[in-house]
Order: sequence, then C-alpha cells, then structure tokens
Amino acid sequence: MGLPKYLLKLSAKTFGICEDEEMKKYAMPVIMLAVFETVAITLWLTKGNLFYLFNFSYIGISISLGVFLFIRKYRHARRVVQLLVGMYMLVYLGLICKENMQIEGFWYYLFTGVFEAATIHYAVAKIFGPLIFGRGWCGYACWTAMVLDFLPYKVPKQPRKRLGWIRYITFAAALVFVAALFLAHVGNIERIMFWAFVIGNVLYYVTGIILAFAFQDNRAFCKYICPITVFLKPMSYYSLFRVKCDKEKCISCGKCKRVCPMDVDVTDNSRKRKNGTECILCMECVKNCPKGAL
Ligand code: SF4
Ligand code: SF4
Ligand code: SF4
Repeated sequence: MGLPKYLLKLSAKTFGICEDEEMKKYAMPVIMLAVFETVAITLWLTKGNLFYLFNFSYIGISISLGVFLFIRKYRHARRVVQLLVGMYMLVYLGLICKENMQIEGFWYYLFTGVFEAATIHYAVAKIFGPLIFGRGWCGYACWTAMVLDFLPYKVPKQPRKRLGWIRYITFAAALVFVAALFLAHVGNIERIMFWAFVIGNVLYYVTGIILAFAFQDNRAFCKYICPITVFLKPMSYYSLFRVKCDKEKCISCGKCKRVCPMDVDVTDNSRKRKNGTECILCMECVKNCPKGAL
C-alpha cells in the first residue's frame, strides 16, 4: 500500500509511537483517526454543534477500527466498517434525523445556502476527502454498496461495458429535480427531500441489484449509474493513498487483476493506470498477491 515513508515517520513522531516495525504498521489507523478527529473538533468548535464531534468521531473510529482489523488480517474487516458506517448513515442520519444524504440533498442544502450535515458530508467524503483517501468512501462507507457487496458477483464475470456516460444523466437529473422545486417555489421542500431520500434509495437498491445480476457484477451500479462518481472520480485521481506495485517483487501473474471488483490495472503505478479512478481501496489485490508486491 502506497503510504509515503515520510508520512509514516511523521505520524510516528507526532503520536509518540516508537519507530519499531511492529508499531509502524499501525500508523495508518492512527492517521485516519487523527484526520477525522481534526474535522470533528474543528466543526464542533466553529459551528458550536456537538453533533459534528459525535458524527465525525464515530465515523473516524469505525474506519480506523476497520483498518486496524485489516492489519490484523481479519477477513471481514471491510464489511464491519461498511455496516457500522453505512447503517449509521442510512438509518440514523437518513431515516431518523431525516437528513437527505443523497446527491439531491447536497444540491438542496447548497441552494438554501445551509452548510450543514449533507453539504459537509459531501465536502469531506466525496469532494475534498478523496484527495487524501481516494474512493475509500465507496469501499468502506457507502450504504448502497453495503447491500450490493452481499450479492454473488464479487468479481465481475463479464467484460466492462461502455456505459459510464449514464452517471452524467443521473447527476444532471438530481440537479434539475432540485432546481425545478426551487424555481416552482414548491412549499415544504424539507418533506419532499425526505421522501426523495427514501424513494431514491429504493430505486438505487432495485437498479443496483438488477444490474448486478444482468451484468454478473456486484459493482455495476457503481461503474455506470452512480451520480456521485462525477465528484469522486476526478478527485481520487490525485489521491494520496494508493495501492502501488513493487516491480522488483511482481512476477506478473495477473492475480491482482483477476480479483479486483473494479477492473483496475494495479500493476501500473502511474496515475493514468487503467480504471485507476475506480479503485475503492478494498485491498483484495493486496490480500491475494502471492509475492506481497502490493
Ligand atoms: S460508486 Fe456510488 S454507489 Fe458505488 S460505492 Fe461509490 S458512492 Fe456508493
Ligand atoms: S498479484 Fe502480485 S505478483 Fe501477481 S501480478 Fe499482481 S502484483 Fe504482480
Ligand atoms: S482490488 Fe485493489 S485495485 Fe481493485 S479496487 Fe480493490 S484495492 Fe483497488
């Protein structure tokens, strides 16, 4: 995994961890937790709302726990995080707190000029966060993928289709929908947003499951339909965290590509690697490489 050495040293010094090999392994969960706590405390103090401290601390602890379990070689580490974060967002934030965390919610809060949960969530997880942790959101937190990943086609059984253009249509449809509500001066938009969240999620799950079986690919929805990838893909191109290949160790067996759910050519270390902006940091390639080259 491509965590720069200077960052490992920096974190070891910053958090008082001795530079012994065993401890160095745990720098990543510590860094993750530190990033989320920084966001949590900053938002809590600047916005004077304790919710932000709770929200980002919970997410940070869940993700760091998952990374820690992964380092400890626990097989279901990623699934644990997906369930902890995905269920929290879908059930608590979405259904109980009635916060539309879908893309139409982002447009809605942006239009109203309210920099609250949904807009902050997008800024952190989907717009600026990917500059650091790429599409980690898609691998560890998304409640749509949380369900899709239970389906039987964990590795695609068919070649990739040229259908990625559909994401721009769904992206535009969400924007037009919210803009139309504002232009038509429709009343009680908050309530409409809640039902848009419920109906939108049902549609996402139904479409995602149908596509997964039709294309024999659990992540077909992510590859062709999901509007959020319009933000995620360009930002994750510059991601700090990336899986990199040690060419000295690699024997070109191709196993990493065969187990990748997103068709990434992970042996190419350049930013322009095939499907590079699709990597969800699931670590299946790392776990399966027989030479420990990733
Ligand atoms: S591509 Fe969309 S649906 Fe898939 S995991 Fe990412 S945010 Fe979720
Ligand atoms: S699985 Fe490992 S050894 Fe095989 S091609 Fe990929 S990086 Fe190289
Ligand atoms: S298998 Fe490797 S390259 Fe493919 S999505 Fe997962 S982490 Fe990224």
